Amino acid sequence: MIVTLNDAAEIETVRRALVERGLWVRPLQEPGSSGRVQFLVEEGSASVPAEDLRAIRGVEAVATGEVCYPRVRAQPPTVEIHGVRIGPTPDAAPLIMAGPCSVESKEQIRAIATRLGRLGVRFLRGGAYKARTRPDSFQGHGAAALGWLRDAADEQGMSVVTEAVGVEELEPVAEVTDLVQIGSRNMHNTPLLKAAGRCGKPVLLKRGMAATLDEWLHAAEYCLSHGAPAVLFCERGIRSFDPSTRNVLDLGAAVLLAHVYRQPVIVDPSHAAGRRDLIAPLCYAALAAGAAGLMLETHDDPGRALSDGPQALHADEIAAIVGAVRRAESRYSRRSS
Ligand code: PEP
Ligand code: MN
Repeated sequence: MIVTLNDAAEIETVRRALVERGLWVRPLQEPGSSGRVQFLVEEGSASVPAEDLRAIRGVEAVATGEVCYPRVRAQPPTVEIHGVRIGPTPDAAPLIMAGPCSVESKEQIRAIATRLGRLGVRFLRGGAYKARTRPDSFQGHGAAALGWLRDAADEQGMSVVTEAVGVEELEPVAEVTDLVQIGSRNMHNTPLLKAAGRCGKPVLLKRGMAATLDEWLHAAEYCLSHGAPAVLFCERGIRSFDPSTRNVLDLGAAVLLAHVYRQPVIVDPSHAAGRRDLIAPLCYAALAAGAAGLMLETHDDPGRALSDGPQALHADEIAAIVGAVRRAESRYSRRSS
């Protein structure tokens, strides 16, 4: 059982009230974390009806039953970021996050943001710090790129999502971004997950390329236990034996997270497929599977992209996807679930 407190609650008073009723309780957040306070009621506690607990002053909600991933399960199904509702519910339209793999110059990100802004895309993505497999590959323009990204997004009234590749980069990233991206290579980096939670911004948690769903959910628990106001899950493909596509897009995991766990899932077909010609059909499949949104890489001149050119969508291709998503929105099964 999980007891969630409201913002006005006196935490110690509520804790005492729970203990007086014979409950063994453990706080789910680290001391001093921002965000909602929750107590996990340990097994073996007295049996107290949930209504009695709801009646305690300061208690907002009581979730009953056995709880794995208690902080994830206690997340509301939708998250709102700058007026955009994201999640697996009918009141949240599919969200598109798009932009280049890397922020390459002020002019480049501005041109792409202008194009995306005209299409009605609300989130601008772009890597300022890049986690690359090879040390000789482009590593990103760092702090300068963060400023270019923010300015380009502001000009279009867009929100920003960008990656923090290490604890050191978290502070500059958190200062400019609306959503902190934790990349696939860092899903197991617990100091970074904790720091991301502490920075107070919602987190876009990409799935590790060989991570089980259980590991992914526990990584989210790390962020939430350290104060993240929300975690969005990003399925970006997992490693397989078959090199025909860069990764294998695991839509089964997206269905499980969206429909069973009722979590906001963003699907990234760009990194899954690794080639632009497969991306559009994967987008539609992802939304039918229950994805709350899509993350797409695009570039004005993919042949010259400093990273991930083969998977970057041309301007006309992303426009076609955005249009099709809008038109087909009402047909997706997620809206009737
Ligand atoms: C990215 O989004 O540019 C990226 C590096 O993704 P991933 O961590 O999924 O490889
Ligand atoms: Mn990329």
